Amino acid sequence: MKRRKILQTLSVIVLLPIASLKNFSRGFANPVTPENLKPLNKPPKTWRKYLSPEAYQVLFEQQTEDANSSELNQEHREGTYICAACYLPLFQSIYKYESGSGWPSFFQSIPSHVSTQLDDSIGIIRTEYHCIRCGGHQGHVFKDGPPPTGERWCNNGLSLKFILKTEPLPLLRS
Ligand SMILES: [Zn+2]
Repeated sequence: MKRRKILQTLSVIVLLPIASLKNFSRGFANPVTPENLKPLNKPPKTWRKYLSPEAYQVLFEQQTEDANSSELNQEHREGTYICAACYLPLFQSIYKYESGSGWPSFFQSIPSHVSTQLDDSIGIIRTEYHCIRCGGHQGHVFKDGPPPTGERWCNNGLSLKFILKTEPLPLLRS
């Protein structure tokens, strides 16, 4: 019995640093490597289990949320905006600005984390962008933004999740 207790204690001492290291890598490293920037090419329904019906409609059925409906319009803290479906970081809070459009707006996205394509669905040609990894629709980018880029990345709040700077980024979803 005594021996078992010693072994248990030893295993705690040995395993604790491993557990801490694992938590550290889960939270903070979460490496975004070229490998996990590749499109996952999964069917949209793969993501349905993670999302509210409204978020799913925006991300994978090309819907647009109502203007001024997102709490992220009022989000001014430091942190990272990640894709609501696959958790890939898409914007940093330092890129956010008040566009007055009613949707969370940024003057740039994290380079290479989104893909763009032309969208003529409402009769005018706009540039639509998607999360590079899961393909989820985020919003449209316009040329009427502020310096230094002159771009306005107009994003649906439902397509994003905000992570405070003081909190670890979640693991990417697959
Ligand atoms: Zn995504």
